[in-house]
Amino acid sequence: MPDRIQLLPENIANQIAAGEVIQRPASAVKELLENAVDAGSENIRLIISDAGKSLIQVIDDGSGMSEIDARMSFERHATSKINTIDDLFRIRTMGFRGEALASIAAVAQVELKTRRAENEIGTHIEIENSQVLRQEPVATAVGTNISMKNVFFNVPARRNFLKSNAAEMRHIVDEFLRVAMAFPNVFFSLTANGQELFHLEKGTLKQRIVQLLGSVYNAKLVPVQENTDYLNIYGFIGKPEAAKKTRGDQYLFVNNRFIKSGYLNHAIMTAYQELIPTDSFPLYVLFIDLDPAQIDINVHPTKQEIKFEDEKIVYAFVQAAVKHALAHFSITPTLDFDLDPSIQRLDAVSKPVTDEIRNATSSSHLYQTFTQKNQAHFIEQKSDLKNWKDFYEKPDKNGDEILTERKSAEVTDDYLLKSKPVIQIVEDAPLLQIHQQFVIATTTSGVIMIHQQLAHERILYEKFAGAYKGKSMATQKSLFPTSLHLNPADAVLLQELIPELNQLGYQVEIFGKDSFVIQGTPADVEQGNEKLVIEQMLEQYKHFASDVKFSKREKLMRSLAIQQSVKPGRTLTQSELKSLVEDLFTCRQPNVSPGGNPTYIEFRKDYLEKIFGK
Ligand code: ADP
Ligand code: MG
Repeated sequence: MPDRIQLLPENIANQIAAGEVIQRPASAVKELLENAVDAGSENIRLIISDAGKSLIQVIDDGSGMSEIDARMSFERHATSKINTIDDLFRIRTMGFRGEALASIAAVAQVELKTRRAENEIGTHIEIENSQVLRQEPVATAVGTNISMKNVFFNVPARRNFLKSNAAEMRHIVDEFLRVAMAFPNVFFSLTANGQELFHLEKGTLKQRIVQLLGSVYNAKLVPVQENTDYLNIYGFIGKPEAAKKTRGDQYLFVNNRFIKSGYLNHAIMTAYQELIPTDSFPLYVLFIDLDPAQIDINVHPTKQEIKFEDEKIVYAFVQAAVKHALAHFSITPTLDFDLDPSIQRLDAVSKPVTDEIRNATSSSHLYQTFTQKNQAHFIEQKSDLKNWKDFYEKPDKNGDEILTERKSAEVTDDYLLKSKPVIQIVEDAPLLQIHQQFVIATTTSGVIMIHQQLAHERILYEKFAGAYKGKSMATQKSLFPTSLHLNPADAVLLQELIPELNQLGYQVEIFGKDSFVIQGTPADVEQGNEKLVIEQMLEQYKHFASDVKFSKREKLMRSLAIQQSVKPGRTLTQSELKSLVEDLFTCRQPNVSPGGNPTYIEFRKDYLEKIFGK
């Protein structure tokens, strides 16, 4: 018997490989558009005939290719986008496999004209069935003009599998929308059978969404923006009333790559729970950006699925970001936005895996919102704040700092600035304490109800934070230094805290075994209470003792804030009310207590009017 194994002829091997990449005309559209984007183009035109069956042409004004590169680009595994295996973990381009042009050339008749800005003359290549038919110099514009004709002309079985023109055209439009959505700063047009279907001027993401999905969404988009050290989420979601009965308008991108993820879709849908009927679908156009090393885009040849290094964190962030955006815009001031308890229990959330991730997540503002009891009332003031700790490490509201904040807001998008809610207290309007617990104050846009204790905790907390930054707290020497005897465990604890306490204006000294003497306290602590203050602070501190995500100092500040705050049941004088409100709104983060509860709820005038039908 003769041996039977032989190598496949190259063009057949290419055709088989091409089947993975080019399943239908729309797959080629996606690849060619992505190449144009990767080439840094500002204007990209897509021309289609016969639903892509006879022609798919993409004309761009990007980098173009040299004569050699033009020829090389059709080789399998030919790419300019990665060199080493490590590059796979740094992918920022849409393509990287070097398979698309080779596949296209294997199953169609291809004509390429390309020129780089530095060359006077361009290159013209014709190739079909993986065979170069001709290559010659040509006069052509800077950029690349590639036509793919008669797809599957040499693979009749596949050609027969193509669907009706209407169906194939729909796939093409889908791909076009996805790419155009992800790059609003690029001009795109789509012409089919001589008719221009889309003409998309460059603009903001919001403008692009409206261009692509229709002006019905114009006033119905809510911005989403959460920056953390681990990932950033931005984009728009539809107001609940804009939800549709069909799933269509849902776009999720990871590092600008359109992905399908039932898992993350679920995260978003549950954020809308109870806001929309179960059989309807909200719009979303969300972009998740994270370190490419945290994802594996290599899972599927057409790259619509994606694996995250830590899926659960991404799920929790996406969900919290959407809830937050909905709450932020006070779309439903009465609904409860508790995070799904199963998410809070996730290891990824409660015990992040690596130190790096732990630091990134636990210091991020979003992590803090996981502990928010009532997201609906959480009104974020500084959504571009990257790091919770930044509050304390930066100087107070001086020009520099505002500048850097502005800058980071600009980088993300101008809508951010517009989305910041501003609470402005009407100064001479009366303040009213009710039930010795809440304070009602008039704002320019409505009325707010402040929780006196939570607000005071916030004020104290920021004051303590200020003390660590150098604004030292005035100490008053006690006339009669108090001594304090503690059990051994508490004594060890207090001993550890002495340096931190000193900075906050508490002068505590060791005085023999398990004994201390309090020489002085911050000026605003009532004389005679020193001992109680320390004892209660220690009690509070022990509540936080097992909480690994806080530093010693952080726990101490929180404990003291709780301990010293004005509790419900305390009647406040007019001047106390006034300074409570004033101090609260000079805080960096007035809307949330250190423990993550809202400090106030706003009832907007327009919302109240709506309720009353006036
Ligand atoms: P990949 O995009 O994965 O690198 P492709 O087969 O799509 O692989 O393209 C191969 C190479 O050809 C690219 O890496 C790029 O260098 C070049 N190329 C393709 N399309 C263009 C274009 N429109 N403009 C400039 N260069 C291009
Ligand atoms: Mg490509």
